Amino acid sequence: MTLPIHHTDILIIGAGLAGLSAANALQAAGHNVLVVDKGRGLGGRLAGRRIGNASFDHGAQFMTTRNPKFVEQVSQWIEAGVAEEWYSSFPGQANSHARYRGVPTMTAIAKHLAVGVSVKLATKVESLKVDNHGWLCQLENGASIRSRSLVITSPVPQTLDLLSTGKVKLPKDKQDRLNRISYESCIAVMAILDQPSVMKSPGALALDDGPIAWISDNYQKGVSAIPAVTIHGSGDFSAKHFKDDHDQVARQLIDAAKPYLGANVVDFQVHGWRYSKPIIVDDSPCMLVSQNTDLPPLILAGDAFAGPRVEGAVLSGWAAAEVLINL
Ligand SMILES: Cc1cc2nc3c(=O)[nH]c(=O)nc-3n(C[C@H](O)[C@H](O)[C@H](O)COP(=O)(O)OP(=O)(O)OC[C@H]3O[C@@H](n4cnc5c(N)ncnc54)[C@H](O)[C@@H]3O)c2cc1C
Repeated sequence: MTLPIHHTDILIIGAGLAGLSAANALQAAGHNVLVVDKGRGLGGRLAGRRIGNASFDHGAQFMTTRNPKFVEQVSQWIEAGVAEEWYSSFPGQANSHARYRGVPTMTAIAKHLAVGVSVKLATKVESLKVDNHGWLCQLENGASIRSRSLVITSPVPQTLDLLSTGKVKLPKDKQDRLNRISYESCIAVMAILDQPSVMKSPGALALDDGPIAWISDNYQKGVSAIPAVTIHGSGDFSAKHFKDDHDQVARQLIDAAKPYLGANVVDFQVHGWRYSKPIIVDDSPCMLVSQNTDLPPLILAGDAFAGPRVEGAVLSGWAAAEVLINL
């Protein structure tokens, strides 16, 4: 049986904030775009999960705003009812950057961005190559997608693996810059409690020492209908234990979290984010790797370029779109 080849002008790999922001900007400029993502849900690292009646934000917890364009974007999301300010300072502490959250969960922002965009979920690009017409991406299900241009927004080590399947040769200076980018890992525990936690409002706790970096109370946040917390292992702890049995590691994190919870954990799940946040980023907002090569247009984008956070992912997506629009 011959499997189909789909055609699109621009293929974007990744329905996280970078990919969806790029798609929006490209569509607004009249381009024909298709977004594919290997995940079953939208949003990438803006992830949510349900366990019974409990709901969790288990990837990004909030976003901050620095760039004026992003400030404006977040205002629009607030107006659309998919974001709101979560908190701007902890009780008794001086004001810091306002923290904004998705409503009802962080993934609401991705769902909002995906309205009117062609997105294929559960669609993994396994390999790619250049042919006479541009890029040919081979999917896990055997079908393929041909596009004139390609935007890749996966974490950079995964992008490099993908490019190596097609023996895509990058200019040395760009390859060196990409090799320098690195990420920390995060083991995230989603735990259901037998009663509300004793965490003070706003139900968010960032810790500097020890195995835990962050605890948030999804019940206080209004994410979960029943008491439930997200516990993020610190970068050091998560790296050290990433290959260990995740249930055992989760139990260690739950033990360490006990003094902050004042409640018992009745059920939990664990997720390992191998590439959680970039710790070494590139200093350009996106990378046109095909520049001065024979390759068809190829742009890399994501939070490893315009800043290691939600805001950076969005800015990078927009930057990638602008480069493509002006090619
Ligand atoms: C635990 C955790 C906590 C965080 N906390 C915060 C926070 O509080 N505030 C903040 O600002 N940021 C936070 N971040 C970082 C923030 O989530 C990211 O910066 C941002 O979401 C990155 O978006 P992106 O679009 O660049 O990448 P991603 O969201 O990773 O999107 C890339 C997408 O590509 C898809 N993909 C990869 N390979 C393929 C393939 N071969 N085929 C098809 N699809 C593919 C993936 O499934 C993914 O959906 C956190 C991240 C984590 C993991």
